[in-house]
Amino acid sequence: MRAKTLVCCLAIAVVCGCAGIIRRDSHRDFTPIVRFVDLNIGESQVVTLSNGKTVRVKLLDVKTRRDTDNHVWRSTAVVDIDGEKADVIMTTFNLPKTVGNCQIDCIATKNYVDTSFENYWEIHKDARFRLWPKGSPWIEPGTFMYPVANSRWLAANVGYSNVPAAPRPNGKFYYHAGMDTGGVEKITPVVAATDGLVVQLGTGHLSQADHPPILPRYDVIYLRDDRGWYYRYSHLSFIDPSLKLGERVKMGRRLGYLGKEGESGGWTHLHFEIKTPTPDGKLYGTQDAYAYFHQGYREQYRPPIMAVAQPRTIANVGEEFELDASRSWSEKPVRSYEWLIDGETIAEGIKVPLTYGEPGSHQVRLKVTDIDGNYDYDFSGFNVSAPGQARISPRSRDAQTSATRATRRRGAGVQAFFYPSLDVKPGDPVVFSSRGNGGDGFDHYDFDDGTTTTVRSNIDMAEHAENGYAFTVHHFAKPGHYFVKVTRTDPTTGRTGGTTLDVPVGMKP
Ligand SMILES: [Zn+2]
Repeated sequence: MRAKTLVCCLAIAVVCGCAGIIRRDSHRDFTPIVRFVDLNIGESQVVTLSNGKTVRVKLLDVKTRRDTDNHVWRSTAVVDIDGEKADVIMTTFNLPKTVGNCQIDCIATKNYVDTSFENYWEIHKDARFRLWPKGSPWIEPGTFMYPVANSRWLAANVGYSNVPAAPRPNGKFYYHAGMDTGGVEKITPVVAATDGLVVQLGTGHLSQADHPPILPRYDVIYLRDDRGWYYRYSHLSFIDPSLKLGERVKMGRRLGYLGKEGESGGWTHLHFEIKTPTPDGKLYGTQDAYAYFHQGYREQYRPPIMAVAQPRTIANVGEEFELDASRSWSEKPVRSYEWLIDGETIAEGIKVPLTYGEPGSHQVRLKVTDIDGNYDYDFSGFNVSAPGQARISPRSRDAQTSATRATRRRGAGVQAFFYPSLDVKPGDPVVFSSRGNGGDGFDHYDFDDGTTTTVRSNIDMAEHAENGYAFTVHHFAKPGHYFVKVTRTDPTTGRTGGTTLDVPVGMKP
């Protein structure tokens, strides 16, 4: 169905005679099929798409939803494309939408910069858009892969795109930039999302003048691909010792193992970020990778259906908000959207309006089923706040200060991951890892097959502590979806918090 427009590139690594060092090769850069444009409100530009056709894009307005602390939770660009008006919600689980003869998404808006700790996007106009021809893939097919191996779509706690993550000094805020995917420390493999040149390997790197986006750090790898884009892989527990600086790697090549090194906040995840030239070509800014993750995952695993209940949402007491399953994807028409709120309330519909009278944090489980009976689950949640109450998303502890991290690891709750999350057969070993809040304590597992276990975790609260996470291995005897509940009770308050993992055994992706 999809046009095979594979770009031809010469796969010749040039090895120079001296000491077997691989130097920069003869690969030629190619122009990606995506186009970028930055616009101010009221400004329009004619953009030539990759199929040679042109579209006129005008930015009419940017609508911002802020919370009472002034943090941006949703940014919507109102555009006019060749006379057709459309609302384009900034990425964060939103895929490109078709308007007229093109597809468009919005990957950055300047309203974030007022309160952001850093302008990761290097955006200096009101909004940045990506454009593709109608019906086009978003990235050249066969050139991008989900960078976390043997891992099911949204199987782990993720922090994708620009979700507000943590406060910073001087009233600034840390909006996340890049894609955080959780996993099991030292066990979940991290693979190259693209073919590319290894331009940074931990603290070793090629010339910074030739490769401006690199940021040498012991736990970080940077690759540069033939689009001229840079890919950051952070928090690795191990870098594959056979990798060489200046080497060209193939997509899917193991780079190392996922970990909690560097500024991870002490939770095991891969931070993946694409740095691309800004539309004026002068700087490098973060380019959202969600659409590429989505396409790469579908190419690799051909799932019939992908449920998306993300992102977490916020609301005030008494304010109406909605659960929204419209970011889910399915090959065939969808038969039903079923929601389970806090394990007891059932609701149906692609969008479910809700109002809560009391503040609190709530968990949801979404099940999406297509007309053939294929189904998929996703987990998310929402926070209802009283006026003046902090609304920080609990999902990311990335890049906070040590003091903040220690504070936030108090209270009820636990982080839990498992591996593998794809192609698990009955009897296969599945590794679970968890780190509870509140210092030394016990995480309780209910495997949903009549068995339970308890592990001791967070013995040392230090961010990089070897005994931070606890591990346990479980074997599920029969096929099915197991909802594994991992809970932690705060010894001082007696409050229990937890998380649920969907472990599919004997199932297709
Ligand atoms: Zn991150």
